[in-house]
Amino acid sequence: MKVVVLGAGVVGTAAVWYLRQSGHEVSVIERQPGAGLETSFANGGQVSPCHAEPWANPATPFQALKWLGKPDAPLIFKWWRYDPELWVWLLRFLANCTPGRTRINTDRTLRVALYSRQCLQELRREVDIDYDAKTLGILHVYRDPSAFAHAIKAAELMAKLGLKREAKTVAEALAIEPALGDAAPELTGAIFTPDDESGDAHKFTQGLAAQAAAQGALFCYGTTVTGFLRDGDRIAQVMTDKGPITADAFVMTLGSWSHVWARQLGLRLPVYPAKGYSATLAVTDTAQAPQVSITDDEHKIVFSRLGGRLRCAGTAELSGWSDAMDPVRANAIVKQARSLFPRAGDYTGAELWAGLRPTTPDSVPVIGKTRLKNLFLDTGHGTLGWTMACGSGKALADVISGREPEIDMTGLGIERFG
Ligand SMILES: Cc1cc2nc3c(=O)[nH]c(=O)nc-3n(C[C@H](O)[C@H](O)[C@H](O)COP(=O)(O)OP(=O)(O)OC[C@H]3O[C@@H](n4cnc5c(N)ncnc54)[C@H](O)[C@@H]3O)c2cc1C
Repeated sequence: MKVVVLGAGVVGTAAVWYLRQSGHEVSVIERQPGAGLETSFANGGQVSPCHAEPWANPATPFQALKWLGKPDAPLIFKWWRYDPELWVWLLRFLANCTPGRTRINTDRTLRVALYSRQCLQELRREVDIDYDAKTLGILHVYRDPSAFAHAIKAAELMAKLGLKREAKTVAEALAIEPALGDAAPELTGAIFTPDDESGDAHKFTQGLAAQAAAQGALFCYGTTVTGFLRDGDRIAQVMTDKGPITADAFVMTLGSWSHVWARQLGLRLPVYPAKGYSATLAVTDTAQAPQVSITDDEHKIVFSRLGGRLRCAGTAELSGWSDAMDPVRANAIVKQARSLFPRAGDYTGAELWAGLRPTTPDSVPVIGKTRLKNLFLDTGHGTLGWTMACGSGKALADVISGREPEIDMTGLGIERFG
């Protein structure tokens, strides 16, 4: 079958890989000059099923109220802008903040994330991609005892759903990651997920794209999707600035832009961008920068050691499709990173970056068929696109190839939005 994948972020590129492995003739349309240059470029680097608790959970509305009016808060939404898309998205988000919905959405996300981590491990055994991978686990650290208590409860739920997580004392956390020494007096406890991983999503995406190209996938870089030609309940052609392209099947992996193009096709796909920031610094004292990936849960900042660099990333801003950098929010990341690892490296020379997480109101990605018979979705991965890319791509390649996916796809499709 001839399949065209729209978008070569980490999610699109993983889909390309598994489609090619399934024997399809695959072409990729990507507006950038290479793969993984938008949201997949400088993310937090964590392969983290441990983050499967959705943003929409019972605690978030109260936390968001506390953060209201603070420009450097971990989560802000610009509700005063005229943006009906945001308001509708927020209403759907609030509807998902009940304990029952949180449990369902955690289960769905964890199902994809655990499968995906396994697919990534298998893929690593098959192909050699240097992406500064570390398989040392992820350690969540807490200052506030009540936040730690809440986290232990969430960890218990995830343990029931199959994710191994262990509560640790501060001394045990220090034994796992000695670079936490400077911050230790402020910490209350930690939760360790020994099987989670980290690595550079951009390097991985570029490496996987090169491997897929070597196996015959055709990457059309510098080519922008401009529209679609419909033929009844099918897509006949995708229109691009380089001309129309015909295929048997189309896969939409356009990140935050999926929403815009799905709407043009008459599909209601509530994917809204949640802008986040990262700072990447050169490590100058290797013993003072963590090797184990760290999450500072209260400030919503993650840390990944990528070779000689330390990536610090986080915060969420619901303010539309612009990736323009707000210096206050970018510097909030640097400030918190410095408080945890003051001697890790040169913070004044940190490279700052902003990207748009394609976020659904229930924090669950959208993978599978649509009512257009030859259009498939693999998008809306929000905070966990790197974590879930391989599993989503493999499951979707199975759907397109007419095979039963290895995971239960219930609740992952667009039909859940009505
Ligand atoms: C600050 C931050 C930290 C994060 N940390 C983590 C983390 O630690 N772990 C994790 O798992 N996830 C993390 N994420 C989330 C993760 O980065 C995203 O979920 C993931 O990158 C989304 O991948 P994608 O392929 O769906 O989107 P993208 O990477 O945005 O890819 C979409 C592609 O579509 C292309 N495109 C768009 N429109 C068009 C068009 N009209 N024509 C042609 N091409 C087009 C774009 O150029 C782009 O390459 C983080 C995100 C941010 C912002």
